[in-house]
Amino acid sequence: MSEELIFNEIENNRDEYIEFFRELIQTDSYNPPGNEKNVALIIKKYLKKSNIKSDIFPFGDNRANLIAYLKDGFDGRILLYNGHMDVVPPGNEEEWKYPPLSATIKRKKYIYGRGSTDMKGGLAAMVIALKILKKLELEISGNLILNAVADEETGGNYGTKWCIDNELKSIKPHFAIVSEPTRLKPLTHCISVGERGRLVIKIITNGISTHSNWPFMGKNAIYMMSEIIQNLEKIDKHIPKIKPPFSFEELKKLMSVSFPSLEALERVLNEQSFLKNVLKALTQFTKSLTIIKGGIKDNVVPDKCEAYIDFRLLPDQKIEPIINGLKKLIEEDVGYNVKSEPVGDPEEVFVYLENVQYSEPSFWKDWKKSSTLKNFYGIVEKAYNEKPYYFLFPASADTSHLRNDGYCPETIMFGPGSGATAHSTDENIEIEDFINAIKVYTLFAYEFLK
Ligand SMILES: [Zn+2]
Repeated sequence: MSEELIFNEIENNRDEYIEFFRELIQTDSYNPPGNEKNVALIIKKYLKKSNIKSDIFPFGDNRANLIAYLKDGFDGRILLYNGHMDVVPPGNEEEWKYPPLSATIKRKKYIYGRGSTDMKGGLAAMVIALKILKKLELEISGNLILNAVADEETGGNYGTKWCIDNELKSIKPHFAIVSEPTRLKPLTHCISVGERGRLVIKIITNGISTHSNWPFMGKNAIYMMSEIIQNLEKIDKHIPKIKPPFSFEELKKLMSVSFPSLEALERVLNEQSFLKNVLKALTQFTKSLTIIKGGIKDNVVPDKCEAYIDFRLLPDQKIEPIINGLKKLIEEDVGYNVKSEPVGDPEEVFVYLENVQYSEPSFWKDWKKSSTLKNFYGIVEKAYNEKPYYFLFPASADTSHLRNDGYCPETIMFGPGSGATAHSTDENIEIEDFINAIKVYTLFAYEFLK
């Protein structure tokens, strides 16, 4: 009965929901610099019309987090919905088919714009779920908390992390959903129970500058970097072996639920190397050299070279052993001194390592035992009329702040949109995917709290 009531309410108000979603896309919250407060104010206004109180917590220059509660008290079960308001900058706008802030609707089927997939669709759907539950006056106990956050695209320390360390500290949710886009075309949606982490290290080699007439008088920092890079694979022998939460075969089996049979998945994997590489990446610690900078003039032996390495960490993998492993590699395998400060004497040859960015990996270990998760699965299947599959998310996200350190270990990621279009030019979302996500968030909250 309630299910029909909820689904009918959503079908009858589609246009209004789509307009609210488009308004979020049209609101600039490119990060950097952020400007998430613009989005928070629109959410606040929308919720206010439904008599839902929300609080905005401003910081920095026009930045903010927002928290809203469905009810007043905290007796009973607590459900937390988390979505980020910031989006990555559009890059060259000329390359976009439709302007990134236009939220253009195409063939009544797609919405184009920055943030359509990552993740103003998921965020809008969560806000709308709150509104529907209030409007329908369904009898529920416990409470639903909406946390619209800033700063996700730059690590989340001022967003999700700040909220759970401050305003939400005394409230312990029993279950949480982060609405990142979880479709990986051509597959159905996944329900993510974990993800790898990310560590970006800047390596700076310091050599000795000289005229290129007599290169032997100096020490070429680019050559130094080259030696380190050539030996980078050796880091594996300096860091503890970590078992991935799922093997390649286990991940394949989880993914096969999305297909008529395991054989059908095998066929797709053989045709599409992309999916095979996703599976491969999720079962290992990976390293990529992404930026290299060095040299100032064509007749000067350079004394400085910088390189960025993007490490992706498996759940349970920690940052310190990786930094120590890299240090060992440089000192023992290559033979350069690694200093703990960036400056040395003018004639000093050394290497400095800078920790540029870090997001922890995370994983919900007991996911298989959870009846709540099974209920969630059933609701996704009903709303989308297709089977989702349990999986790991290919990128890092705010889920680690929620799962790790015991705040809410039972955190999942599920949201409308296809991961492949996130952060890309012509980012877009299927309208039906967005509508179905509203159904999932609303019905699940009702079932969880009733
Ligand atoms: Zn995102």
